Amino acid sequence: MFNVNSIRQDFPILSRKVHGKPLVYFDNAATSQTPKQVIDVIVEYYSKHNANIHRGVHALSQEATDLYEQARKKIQTHFNAAKSHEIIFTSGTTHSINLVANGFSNFLGKNDEIIVSALEHHSNIVPWQMLCERTGAKLKVIPMNNEGELVISEFDTLLSKNTKLVFVNHVSNALGTVNPIEYIIGKAHEVGAAILIDGAQSSPHIKPDVQALDVDFYVASAHKLCGPTGVGMLYGKEEWLKKLPPYQGGGEMIAEVTFEKTTYADLPHKFEAGTPNICGGIAFGAALDYMNNIGFEAIAAYEQELLDYATKELLMIDGLKIYGTSEHKTAVISFNLEGIHPYDVGTILDQQGIAVRTGHHCAQPIMDYYNIPGTVRASFSFYNTKEEIDALVSGVKKAQRMLS
Ligand SMILES: *Cc1c(COP(=O)(O)O)cnc(C)c1O
Repeated sequence: MFNVNSIRQDFPILSRKVHGKPLVYFDNAATSQTPKQVIDVIVEYYSKHNANIHRGVHALSQEATDLYEQARKKIQTHFNAAKSHEIIFTSGTTHSINLVANGFSNFLGKNDEIIVSALEHHSNIVPWQMLCERTGAKLKVIPMNNEGELVISEFDTLLSKNTKLVFVNHVSNALGTVNPIEYIIGKAHEVGAAILIDGAQSSPHIKPDVQALDVDFYVASAHKLCGPTGVGMLYGKEEWLKKLPPYQGGGEMIAEVTFEKTTYADLPHKFEAGTPNICGGIAFGAALDYMNNIGFEAIAAYEQELLDYATKELLMIDGLKIYGTSEHKTAVISFNLEGIHPYDVGTILDQQGIAVRTGHHCAQPIMDYYNIPGTVRASFSFYNTKEEIDALVSGVKKAQRMLS
C-alpha cells in the first residue's frame, strides 16, 4: 500500500528546515530528492568497492565492474531494452542527446530535415541547430497551441521523405504536457525517419517500454529519478548504435590502438570513453529499484491526486493563471500572478521554506509563445503531500498581498 508518511521517512532532506520553516520541496522537475536507500549505496561503494572498472584483475576492480554491469542490467530491465549493450551510460540527458546529434552528422545532407517540437528544453534545441549548421539540414518545428499541446495535424504536414530524424520530449518540463509519442513514433517510421524520445521528464512518472514503443533512441537522467546528478542513459536500438560513430575518443572505447589505425570496442564500450561515473551508475540502478519497489502505477496515481488538488486550490486565487492546461499532464503547474514578476513570487515562497522554480525553465520558445518572461513552476513528486500544497497556496496568497 502507498503510504506517503512512511515514504517521507526515506528522504533525510525532507526533515530539514529552510529559513526556519519546514522545507517544502516543489522543484522536482529540476531534480528529485534522494532516498537513504540510494545514499547508502553511494556510501557503501566508496567505503568498500571503489576501484576503476573493466581494467584491473584485482578484487576491488572486479567488484566495481560487477556492480556497474548489474546496474546496466537493472536499467535494461526497467526500460525493457532487448539487450544490455543497448544501454549506454552517459552523464545525463544532455550528453545522450549530443551523442546522437553528433553521430547523425555522418548521415545528413542539405536536403534532409529534422523535426523537433515547440515544447522542447534548450538541451533539445541547441544540439539539433548545431547539427543543422554542420550538415546544411533544415530544422522544422511542430507548433504548440494555447493549452500547451502539440498541434499534431501540423506534424503530419511537416513529415516527408526528407525527414531523417524526429525528436520530441515525452513530457514538457516547463508545462507538464504529456505528448502523444506512440502516434509520433508511428508516423516518423512511416516516412523512414529515426525517432528519439527525451524521457527526462516522463521517466519519473511513466515507466516506458522501449520495445513496445518501437522507439529508436530514448534518453533519461538519473537525478530526476531519485538518483545522483551527473549520470544518465541512452537507449539505442542495436542496429542504430552500430551505425553511429563514437562520440568521444579515449580509454575504454577502443579495441586496438596503433598510430596507423584504431579500431573501436564493441557496444556499449564504443560510447563510453574514459572512466565513467561508476558510483553514479550503480546508484542509478539502486534508485530504479527504490522506485519500482513503490511501483510506478501507485506513484502516478498519487501524483495525479496532488495535481488535481493543487490545480483546484491555486485556481481559487484571483488573478492566478496556469500555463499548460492539457488534459494529459504530469504533476507540474506553471503559473503567474497578474502584474507580478515570477521571480518575486519565488523569492517570497523561498522565505517560507517553499522551493519552486522561476524563470523560463530552459524553454524560452514556450515563454515567447505566451509572451511572458517566465513562470513560477511547482512540480510535485510522490513524497509530497496535500498539506504542503496548502502551504504553497497560502504562500502564494501572501506573495500577492505583499507585492500588489
Ligand atoms: C532536465 C531535462 C533535460 C536535461 O537533463 P540534464 O540532466 O540536465 O542533462 C532535458 N530534457 C528535459 C525534458 C528535461 O526535463
